[in-house]
Amino acid sequence: MDLTVITTYRCNSHCSMCYIWKYPTDPGEEVNAEDLKKLPGGFDNLNITGGEPTLRKDLPDLVETLHPKARILEISSNGLHAERLEPIIKKYPQTKVRFSLEGFDDTNNRIRGEQDGFKKKVAGMMRLKELGGQDLGFGAVIQDDNITEVVDLYKFAQEKDVEFATSTLHNAFQFHKNDNVMYDRMKVAREVEKLITEMLKTNKVKNWFRAYLNLGLIENILGHDRLIPCTAGKDFAFIDPWCDVYACNVRPDLLLGNLRRQSWDEIMNSPKSREIRDKVKACKQNCWMVTTARTAMRNPVVPQLPKAKPFWWVVVNKARATLGMPIPFQKYVDYGVVVKDDDVPKREHFLDNKQVKRRKQTAEETHYSFVGEYFNR
Ligand code: SF4
Repeated sequence: MDLTVITTYRCNSHCSMCYIWKYPTDPGEEVNAEDLKKLPGGFDNLNITGGEPTLRKDLPDLVETLHPKARILEISSNGLHAERLEPIIKKYPQTKVRFSLEGFDDTNNRIRGEQDGFKKKVAGMMRLKELGGQDLGFGAVIQDDNITEVVDLYKFAQEKDVEFATSTLHNAFQFHKNDNVMYDRMKVAREVEKLITEMLKTNKVKNWFRAYLNLGLIENILGHDRLIPCTAGKDFAFIDPWCDVYACNVRPDLLLGNLRRQSWDEIMNSPKSREIRDKVKACKQNCWMVTTARTAMRNPVVPQLPKAKPFWWVVVNKARATLGMPIPFQKYVDYGVVVKDDDVPKREHFLDNKQVKRRKQTAEETHYSFVGEYFNR
């Protein structure tokens, strides 16, 4: 099972597609090492994220607690304070680190509301590499504003000898917004094809399966059904800063329990959890987030291996790429069916964010003030 721990909703980026930064948590209320000690061992990918996890002064303690419980311990960061990860990488060089990077220079800064973000992240990443980091990389959220740079960004990561992961726009209670919709679905989807082709040309197995993940992104972008059904709540869970455990970070009604008040066993084996897993099976949201897409792709018996569907897709299309043949996207994706959106309003950007009001969220109050239909289609 994979687990994501949202260590804080404080964030020093100001993204246009995620408003976590407008709703910071109180550091005194945030999930701590004592809470996390209650987790069992044996997680597959255990992701420490936020908000921005490097804003946690006790991040090294959280890592100490979680490291023995995971096959892969991941830290997802904006990379603006890479120096805070240096002691962690020195001690645990195999820690997976991903920095969010939405494009080169101005593109990244505009989407993420960051000053000089691109340069800081790249310099920080190279420093972690010098220190011996073994699983470092960038992650980009594919959207209209960066789609023309995505292939070059991928090549840039390759030149720097680091990984490159992609996701795309989603609406979720965690993000406090539901206007994350493409302006031009077809254009973005066609550009993702180029990235897939590049990934299949490499000799890295990870990239070949990322190519399949990106095929899922095309389906998602066009508004089609998921490539593989979601298994959230069984193969994936999400802990928020108040220790509430959810099946996923999109639907706030999929609340499984609370790690401060209950044991992990109670949470995962309660009648409520069984009910929620049934809701997941019937879920109509059309998500393809890396968390629940990656887990859905895994073989249920040997999680290090893929299910048959992605496996054979990769075998066939890697062979095509090797022989210089085009990937027959039309065979996999029905481009004749594209969800039509009414005029999608342009997302706001926050490079100059000083006037933007923040509203602290507390455990006592309703945490997720944005009431809306978190719809992904
Ligand atoms: S498909 Fe449904 S249950 Fe699965 S991640 Fe999306 S919203 Fe959550």
